[in-house]
Amino acid sequence: MSPVCQTHATVETGGKRQLTMESPVGSIAFMRCNTSVPSAAVFSPGMSLTRPGHLRGSWWRLVRSGLAALALSVGLSACRTAAPHCPEAVQPRPLPGVKHVLLIGFDGFGAYAWERAEIPNLKALAARGALSLKARAVLPSASAANWATHLMGAGTELHGYTEWNSRTSMPPARVVSKYGLFPGIFGLVREAYPTAEMGVLYEWDGIHYLFENEAVNFEKQEKSPAALTAGTARYLLEKKPLFTFVCYDQPDAVGHGEGHDTPQYYDMLKNCDAEVGKLLDALTAAGMAQDTIIMLISDHGGLDKGHGGKTLQEMETPWLIAGPGIQRGHPIAASIVHYDTAATLARIFGVRPPQVWTGRAVREVFAR
Ligand SMILES: [Zn+2]
Repeated sequence: MSPVCQTHATVETGGKRQLTMESPVGSIAFMRCNTSVPSAAVFSPGMSLTRPGHLRGSWWRLVRSGLAALALSVGLSACRTAAPHCPEAVQPRPLPGVKHVLLIGFDGFGAYAWERAEIPNLKALAARGALSLKARAVLPSASAANWATHLMGAGTELHGYTEWNSRTSMPPARVVSKYGLFPGIFGLVREAYPTAEMGVLYEWDGIHYLFENEAVNFEKQEKSPAALTAGTARYLLEKKPLFTFVCYDQPDAVGHGEGHDTPQYYDMLKNCDAEVGKLLDALTAAGMAQDTIIMLISDHGGLDKGHGGKTLQEMETPWLIAGPGIQRGHPIAASIVHYDTAATLARIFGVRPPQVWTGRAVREVFAR
């Protein structure tokens, strides 16, 4: 679609006159590019343009056609100026100062563990960013259900990934995009940035089924946290991607094996934090540290050796965001549900969420 909102010019000149202004040679129609932008002057042929008596017919036709061209040009340039507000005309841009987004997922990181955990890198990130310890999972508080929710901007009822290991939608997705899935953030960003570099790296292969594989340039499964970090660091260094999602399968495995809120669980969180430190080092080595927004999310917490239920220890996760344009040291007061992640990413990338999404951008994290 052209950056100029020609659709408005041609469609709306079809006769919807909103107001007219008298000029020395007749009336010029003022029409709205859309309801959210200033009026754009667009001449509408056939509208109330009356010939002054002192002009002969041939001169009048010349003046009228010249005025039409002038007014159309003014109208289009006004629309051009207002293009960020014209839905069909938007040239998406990330938030000012943002060139990259690194989304880091940890499976089974309960918010209950944040304060007690020895996670200096994550706590330093929170100190220069915004943090909620009350982001909520959708039910069930299970893996595929909530990773899909993070990436798809809606809950289980709409995207249909309702089990811990769902690979397809059941119930069927309310809307299916051209990728054959419920519309997610990767497809949305791909539409807006056709040539952008985007990648997804993970340990658990269940992630593969929860995003539009064809929308990303790079997808890789790794077999350990260390390998996942190393692979992600290589990818960042080589490609300097616009958008990267890296998803670890810990501390969930320890939660199931040794139990949540156990010494072993906290030891694993310490290890997870060390992996974050290496990712931050990779961003620095790639020259991306200053213009990357980093987000940390999880799919659920846990209780004893399980999760999936309705306790807040299972449902509440840490939700952290830091980087250019983000409030620093900000405790997030707003309610966050996991479907707000995709909507917040859409805002960062300057793209409009599809109507079917439930999530809303967490607006208070953005510096004014
Ligand atoms: Zn999980």
